Amino acid sequence: SEFASLDAAIEAGEAAEEAQLSQPVLAVVGRPNVGKSTLVNRILGRREAVVQDVPGVTRDRIAYDAFWGGRRFTLVDTGGWEPGASGLQASITAQAEMAMSTADAVLLVVDASVGATTTDEAVARVLRRSKTPVLLAANKVDDERLLADTASLWSLGLGEPYPVSALHGRNSGDLLDAIIKALPDAPRDGDRAVAGPRRVALVGKPNVGKSSLLNKLTGEQRSVVDSVAGTTVDPVDSLVELDGQTWRFVDTAGLRKRVNSANGAEYYASLRTKTAIDAAEVAIVLLDSSEPLSEQDLRVLTMVVEAGRACVLAFNKWDLVDEDRRHQMVRELERGLVRVPWADKVNISALTGRSVRKLAPALRTALASWDQRVPTGLLNAWLSDLIAATPPPVRGGKQPKVLFATQAGIRPPTLVLFTTGFLEAGYRRFIERKFRERFGFEGSPVRINVRVRE
Ligand code: GDP
Ligand code: GDP
Repeated sequence: SEFASLDAAIEAGEAAEEAQLSQPVLAVVGRPNVGKSTLVNRILGRREAVVQDVPGVTRDRIAYDAFWGGRRFTLVDTGGWEPGASGLQASITAQAEMAMSTADAVLLVVDASVGATTTDEAVARVLRRSKTPVLLAANKVDDERLLADTASLWSLGLGEPYPVSALHGRNSGDLLDAIIKALPDAPRDGDRAVAGPRRVALVGKPNVGKSSLLNKLTGEQRSVVDSVAGTTVDPVDSLVELDGQTWRFVDTAGLRKRVNSANGAEYYASLRTKTAIDAAEVAIVLLDSSEPLSEQDLRVLTMVVEAGRACVLAFNKWDLVDEDRRHQMVRELERGLVRVPWADKVNISALTGRSVRKLAPALRTALASWDQRVPTGLLNAWLSDLIAATPPPVRGGKQPKVLFATQAGIRPPTLVLFTTGFLEAGYRRFIERKFRERFGFEGSPVRINVRVRE
C-alpha cells in the first residue's frame, strides 16, 4: 500500500545517505596507562568540558567530536567497550578487532618509555591484518632524549611511529595531520548550503491550490522580486516576503504556466515536483482539507522524505472545512501520516489568505531542525541510558550491542549507530521516537543508519 511505499522510501533514503556518510571515525586503542585518555583530551582540547560538568550525564562517554585542519571526525576511546573477563591481552585484541571493523582509521597508542610489550605486539599483529589504516603513536616522548625509544617501535610493523607527548602536547599537531590524511574525505556540512534566502518548494497534487497560494503570497508583493537591486533572480524562482523574511520559492514558473495537455500533464507535474524538491531545502506539501488524503498526496510526501528535505504540511482550503469534516480528518490523518508525525501542520486558505503567515514560523522551525547537530558526547550519554533501559530485541539468540553513535551529518540530520548486530526497523523507529522526544527535530526527517561490525 502507499504506507509501505513511504516506509520503503525512508529506508532507501537511509541507504543512500549511508553511502555518503559524512563524518569519519577514528578509534583509539592500546593498553591501560599508555596515555590514551590524556591523548584523547589533548586532541579534543577543552571543548567537551561543558558536557562533563553535567552530573550523571557523562559516565559512559566513549565517543567525541573532534576537529583538526577544518575537518570534523568522531573520536572513539575504545576503553569504553567494557573489556571482558578474558584477560588483558585478549580483551585488548578484541577491542582492536572491533575498532578495525567500525572505524575508518585506528590509532594505536604505545608507551615509548616502556617500549613494545608482548601485549602491544599481539595488538599490532591483529591490526596488521586490517584493511583499515592504522597509525602508531609513541607516547610519553616528553623530550628529545626519548626520541631513540621511538625508533625501536618500527618493529611493530605498523609503519612510522609518531612520537608525541600527550601530557605536554609535544608533536601532537604532526600526529593529527597524519590522522586527517588517513581518514577518508568527507563532504563538508556546508555542501548543500547556498547563500541567500532559504529555498522552498511548493508541492502537492493538481488542484490542491499551489498557484492560488503562490499568487496570494506574491500577488501584493510582486515588487519584491524587482526591488532586490543587483540580485540575479533565476527567472524560474520567486522571491517571497513572508513574516519579515525573504524566501526563495523554487521552480515556480511551472506553476504559473499551466500544462493542460491531457496526456503528459501528470508526468510533467511529477517531474516538476521532483525538480522543485531537489532544488529546495524545505518543502511545503499542500493538502486539500476538503478531500480525504489520497495516494497522490502520499506520493508527494514520499518524494520529500526520500530526498531528505525538511517539510511543512499545509492543509489548504480550510475555508471549506466544517465541524463534521474536522472530526473525520483527525482519524484520517492519524492513519495517513503515521510516518511523518514530526511534520508541522498549518491550516490555511489560499483563497481567503487565512493563516498563510503561519507558514513562516513553521518553515523556520523545520529548517532549524534540518540544520541541527547533537554533539557526540551528549548523544552517547543519552543513548547509553536509553539502551540500558530498553535493550535491542534478541535475534538468533544474540543481543546486539550498540557500541556508540554519532550524528554523521545534517541536512538531513543523520545518525550512525555502530553495533555488534542488526537492529530491527521497529527498534530503530523506537530510537528515532525517543531521540525526537529528547532533542526535538520537529519538521525534519531524521535518518538512522546502522553500521554492523562484521
Ligand atoms: P590510558 O589508561 O591509556 O587512558 O592512560 P591515561 O591517559 O590515563 O594515562 C596514564 C598515565 O600516564 C597518567 O598518569 C598520565 O598522566 C600519564 N601520561 C599520559 N601521557 C603522558 C605523556 O605524554 N608523558 C608522560 N610523562 N606521562 C603521560
Ligand atoms: P494547483 O493546481 O495546485 O495550482 O491549484 P490551483 O491554485 O489552480 O487551485 C485549484 C482550484 O482550487 C481553483 O479553483 C482555486 O480557486 C481553488 N482553491 C485554491 N485554494 C483554495 C482555498 O483555499 N479554498 C477554496 N475554497 N478553494 C481554493
